[in-house]
Amino acid sequence: MRNKRTITFKEDLCDLCGLCFHMCPVLELPLDESKAEIQRLIKGLESKYVLSKCNTCLSCNLYCPQNAKPYQLILERWNDIYKKRGAPPLYYFVCPTENGNIWQLLNLFLSNQERRWIYKWMYYTPKSEDTLFLIGSYTHLLPFIIGGSRLLEYFKPIDRIDQWEGGAYLYQGGYLDVVQRIAERTKLDFDEWGSQNVVVSLDALHYLFNDVHPKEMGVKHDQNFINFHQWLLDNINSGEIHLPNKLELTVTVHDNCYSKANGNVYWENPRRILEKCGCSILEMKHIKQDALCCGFGAGASWVKNISLPFDMISEGVKKFKEAEETGAMALVSYCSGCLYLMWATKELIKSKVDLFHIVEIVRMAMGEKLNYPKDHIKRAWDIIAIITYSLLLSTFKKNFYIKHLSYDESLSTYQPRKHPILKIIRYLFNLKLIRIVYSKLFQMIMPFMKSR
Ligand code: SF4
Ligand code: SF4
Repeated sequence: MRNKRTITFKEDLCDLCGLCFHMCPVLELPLDESKAEIQRLIKGLESKYVLSKCNTCLSCNLYCPQNAKPYQLILERWNDIYKKRGAPPLYYFVCPTENGNIWQLLNLFLSNQERRWIYKWMYYTPKSEDTLFLIGSYTHLLPFIIGGSRLLEYFKPIDRIDQWEGGAYLYQGGYLDVVQRIAERTKLDFDEWGSQNVVVSLDALHYLFNDVHPKEMGVKHDQNFINFHQWLLDNINSGEIHLPNKLELTVTVHDNCYSKANGNVYWENPRRILEKCGCSILEMKHIKQDALCCGFGAGASWVKNISLPFDMISEGVKKFKEAEETGAMALVSYCSGCLYLMWATKELIKSKVDLFHIVEIVRMAMGEKLNYPKDHIKRAWDIIAIITYSLLLSTFKKNFYIKHLSYDESLSTYQPRKHPILKIIRYLFNLKLIRIVYSKLFQMIMPFMKSR
């Protein structure tokens, strides 16, 4: 029997004060408009702003003085819309169970070393005595961030793409009924593995497994989920992880949307880790509870399929502008989901600020060598090629509903077909002149193509 979903927006607590969307760093609605909008959402009437402009950043939950959880109300309304119109065709590319998904297409461009790492992570069968490390679908796109590091020697790394990051990115888009099925499916995996301690690479996973699955999806896990940043900080503090190579780097920190789910702990641990690595922090205008999204969240409130990448990148541009204004040498993300899109944005707008994952900073402080920025630049253009190709293909497809949660091992949606057009696009991006022209063109058409 299917577990029952719980709606966590507290209508009885909401006094219609309107502060949620008035303080929202994206919408900044006048108070009267905001009051009217929350009433429309509660009644299920047509939304004027939120459902077509929200970046799914979670901040409104923190602004609500009544703890009514307006963010969860937004997700419920998107779930209602999904039931009526389905997902946009471009979303095939983030569905690991569909042909043409990003993980499948990226196989065409992975290095042999990356393939070896990923193969090991994907096909390891966990044992009950293992401490597992969930690599996650997005770190899978950037395996060089952690592949080959001594940090992995503490765990058994596992990479199951069709765990869909516990449903994290679908949850942010309001695909709540699908997330519930993912929660049930993920529980089957965990129980079969029998491992008690599971270290998770993303705040999103930590929050999903500890809060969303049990409290909203009716799926309780029996495992002990350990946040990787907490694990890192504890092991740096205990001296288990040595950081002999102090970096003299000024950095600014990107707080991901899910970091707001657990406030101070998720925000402060990465900052303490960076300081231990010898970094000094210059903060951006919008941080922590007010942090702007990397851009990915702009896809949640999609209006037109064709506008999706332009909406996402144009939101990411704001982040780079704020990062550059701090004067910091580098922008650091502690979420790999944000990082892959931010690198694509960085290449498209040619931002001069360096961009690292926090694990890369720790590895450099440990004295490990990175192939920075070459690996990132190559991967950014792999991803830009895949998004360009997926957008072209999606113009011939219709909206769809997510049916399959596991990939079919025989017809696998993980093994790519030949995709000659994608290969040509990627080949062209090897030419510097083409990259420059493409970036300029993208910047020129972005204001006309975005939907907001
Ligand atoms: S989730 Fe973020 S962008 Fe959306 S309404 Fe709430 S504060 Fe605004
Ligand atoms: S959800 Fe909270 S902030 Fe928004 S109107 Fe209701 S009480 Fe006010």
